[in-house]
Amino acid sequence: MRGLLLQDTIVAPATPSGMGAIGVIRVSGSRALQITDTLFTRSKGKKTLQETPSHRVVLGHLHAGGEWIDEVLVTVFKNPHSYTGEDTAEISCHGSPYIQERILHALLEAGCRKANPGEFTLRAFLHGKMDLSQAEAVAELIAAESKAHHDLALQQLKGSVSKGLRNMRDEMIKYASLLELELDFSEEDVEFADRTQFLELMERICISLQELLDSFTGGNAIKNGIPVAIAGAPNTGKSTLLNALLGEEKALVSPIAGTTRDVIEDVTYLKGVAFRFIDTAGIRETGDVVEQMGIARAFDRVEEASLVFLMLSATEWDEEGIREMLRDTRISNKRLLVLINKCDLISEAQQNSLQQTVAMLTTAPVFFISALTQQGLAEVKSWLEHLVESEYLNTRETVVISARHRDALRRALDACGSARQRMEDGLSGELVAQEVREALYYLGLITGEVSTDDLLDSIFTNFCIGK
Ligand code: GDP
Repeated sequence: MRGLLLQDTIVAPATPSGMGAIGVIRVSGSRALQITDTLFTRSKGKKTLQETPSHRVVLGHLHAGGEWIDEVLVTVFKNPHSYTGEDTAEISCHGSPYIQERILHALLEAGCRKANPGEFTLRAFLHGKMDLSQAEAVAELIAAESKAHHDLALQQLKGSVSKGLRNMRDEMIKYASLLELELDFSEEDVEFADRTQFLELMERICISLQELLDSFTGGNAIKNGIPVAIAGAPNTGKSTLLNALLGEEKALVSPIAGTTRDVIEDVTYLKGVAFRFIDTAGIRETGDVVEQMGIARAFDRVEEASLVFLMLSATEWDEEGIREMLRDTRISNKRLLVLINKCDLISEAQQNSLQQTVAMLTTAPVFFISALTQQGLAEVKSWLEHLVESEYLNTRETVVISARHRDALRRALDACGSARQRMEDGLSGELVAQEVREALYYLGLITGEVSTDDLLDSIFTNFCIGK
């Protein structure tokens, strides 16, 4: 099925639809240059595109039905030295939707087929230009909206995930084969696979897999933005803080307690990392059903958050309420930052006394701020920047950002754990090898050594056309 599809020469616009300075149309497949030649006349010289060496740009014009369509530049790539690994022509034309449509139409008439979403990248994978995790990184790279997400996508594109897994796979394949070889000699009771070394290897692999799995939390936070919940009693100034952090009026600010009934969220960037600030409904006892629902949702969001800003008001100091919130494991289990707001309304002496009081209540970092006058917000931001640098960006090791990879890693880890257990329990090499093979299968799903049409479809249909 895939083989048949590969015989077609495919075409698609590589640039977004609409008007632009230039538009690029990509043609890939064994007849890419031959088909483009039928529509192309070179400005200087006689060489056809097929006769042109790879990686050359040729000026000329495209025509169809005896009519000029446009003056274009065609970039020639010869297999295997192209993105797809096939002969490819990239036609840069003037960026009018009409011209692009006509060129596309002419190429389809001349024998091309319209590319499916992600088909260029699928071909790159099928021709061994990149493995599956690298192909997925291309989609990540295009989708990345922050520097940090872009960095991680690039790291994956360069093969960081694949390289580590490939080494593990090679070692595991060696042992699985040795264990299986013992079966052929089962009467002689020989051991080709050294048991101690095998257990050591499995332990090392389990640790590496666990590290990769652990990196997903951070990787996912960077990809989707680090969720920060702003929690605290009503009227402490949560919405005002959110607006100040975002620099725009987003959340509903009101002097009446309990007006933030739903959860409001927005994104801001610090050090190239996206933060998703979540303003929660004031957490308090209430008889109002709608408000209760808001509060329940607020706690759900606090659960999701990596970080909680606990907002306290310097002017309405409710010590028992604060103790209660700090005791709540939904808050205390998170990384916590205590913000004492409305400091523009209190004296320095009052602030000093609050500082001592709050030090008795929590060991979390405490900042005295005024969301209204923005006093102290620069310190909060620089604390966040420091956190990002030390905990999210300082990771030289591989970071997993794909949920698909995480799921496969979990299963591989389970299988490796079972292989170890079976070996320790003295079970036969055959039963141990079974688990090793299972782990190999799941690792192979990540890099694409193992792939099914369904898996490829589900990955590549999420790509845009022309990629
Ligand atoms: P929320 O219920 O926690 O979201 O609180 P809001 O942000 O709606 O603020 C409640 C009231 O406190 C509003 O009248 C704000 O203007 C006021 N407020 C918020 N922050 C400050 C501050 O830092 N100083 C002063 N003086 N008032 C503030």
